[in-house]
Amino acid sequence: MEKNERIPQIQNNSPDILFVVSHTNINSEYMPFYFLYLAGFLEKNGFLCEIFNEVIKSEEKYNQAVVNYLKKTKPRFVGLATFVTDFDQSLSLAKLIKNETGIPIIVGNAHPSICPEDFIYPGSPFDIAVLGEGEYPLKEILKTGYEKLQFKEITGIAFLENGNCIRTAKREIMDLKDCGMPAYHKIDTRRYTRPTKYIIRRLPASCAVIYTGRGCPYKCGFCAANSVWQANSCPAGQSFVRKRPIAMVIEELKILEKKYGFDFFYIMDDTFGIKENDIIEFCDAYQKSGLTMLWGAETRVNSSCFKNEALLKRMKDSGCIQIDFGVETGSPNLLKIIRKGITVDQIKNAFTLCKKYQIRTFANILLNLPEETEDDIHMTDNLLKEINPTFVSIGVTQPYPGTMFFERYIKTTIKKEDYKTLNRLLPSDEYRMAAHTIPLQKLLYYFQFKYGVYTPIETSVFQTDRRYWKKIFSSHRKTQYLFSFMKMMIFASIVEYLQMYVRMRRENLNLKYISQ
Ligand code: SF4
Repeated sequence: MEKNERIPQIQNNSPDILFVVSHTNINSEYMPFYFLYLAGFLEKNGFLCEIFNEVIKSEEKYNQAVVNYLKKTKPRFVGLATFVTDFDQSLSLAKLIKNETGIPIIVGNAHPSICPEDFIYPGSPFDIAVLGEGEYPLKEILKTGYEKLQFKEITGIAFLENGNCIRTAKREIMDLKDCGMPAYHKIDTRRYTRPTKYIIRRLPASCAVIYTGRGCPYKCGFCAANSVWQANSCPAGQSFVRKRPIAMVIEELKILEKKYGFDFFYIMDDTFGIKENDIIEFCDAYQKSGLTMLWGAETRVNSSCFKNEALLKRMKDSGCIQIDFGVETGSPNLLKIIRKGITVDQIKNAFTLCKKYQIRTFANILLNLPEETEDDIHMTDNLLKEINPTFVSIGVTQPYPGTMFFERYIKTTIKKEDYKTLNRLLPSDEYRMAAHTIPLQKLLYYFQFKYGVYTPIETSVFQTDRRYWKKIFSSHRKTQYLFSFMKMMIFASIVEYLQMYVRMRRENLNLKYISQ
């Protein structure tokens, strides 16, 4: 068990570590949670950290601004975070940093946790890859300093030795009591408090994101979440699924509402509410807190609230207005193949109950699932008609590293340079897992058009209850909401719709035609 001793703060004002957000993520509606958590933890332990997250349009200028900032502030370490899709960007930024400053670079997040060998090789600009949760390893690295580091003694990292990438033993998952508060004060939160329709999806909302815990007990074939969590080890008898202390979650929500003025929040846990008690504990504590933000959450159709209706009502009573689900497909056979662990009946039940309690629903659908046939696609089409979600999101499944599909379909053929082509909205037929021959991009457009991803008027906004409108009218952000609605209704929707309509006409996209 790690001790939480305080380490004296470095006095010369140079940060111990500068975390740099990758260029793809600077315009994201989502804050860089990974850095906020790491910075919160390190600060609590007496280290100085900064997060570089300036909005600069050109990637080249952004990278140069990072280097200039590094030369000015001279941190002891640089921290980068890399998903598989921005591997290229991280690599070019790391090369520039190494050439111009020589500062040791630590890389973490999903991709290095799964494939550290992509980062640690002779001549690489990356010095250390952190596997899994970064809090404890970073604390040790910063405490010791690069020059004195005995790499082998730090669990949960990968480093270079005699030309090889060496992974040290896995580090135990952390006790979430230790993790502290995300360091919101380290970034300009004004960018994230503006109303956006991308967090509680399709509903303009000044919306924060929180995690009430970490970990997931499932193993869906298309998802790498477990490979990320299991880059750590778990003591016998314990579970990767851990909750943060509820008092800490409520304290964070207080900060988000009172200090930053958010009107809504969204629970981003992998599997919120699998256990009845988690819902009861959360809803009770939230109602008692006197906070007024409304909220949404992501969960599974077999969560406890769909087995016990009273829990769903409790969620609604404590301010829940939307639930997002991974529906994925309407085909029972594909649900089995992808190891989703749910049935079509459970999907129908969850949507029926949400309608009963007037909670908006959001369904994530995946095309290009392994062995998918045209019949399977029709089943998905029919299921969507029946459950009629408030909004549907469609993606083309990509075999990301860390997933069962990656191992089975592309592990031996894909090259690092091609990672960026794993794009679920601009899919390449090279990553076809489906058995049918329908061009994947056309299939995607067909579903997107049919299920209103492109729509001239964003009608789903009106499918929400009075509490939403009351919140908007009582918000101090009324003008921001007005602009957001105007942008969404008048500009984005109609322009997007017309572009799509022309494409549909030109390419004659209809399921009967494209499947021939
Ligand atoms: S899709 Fe959700 S439930 Fe399935 S493994 Fe990933 S996080 Fe867990």
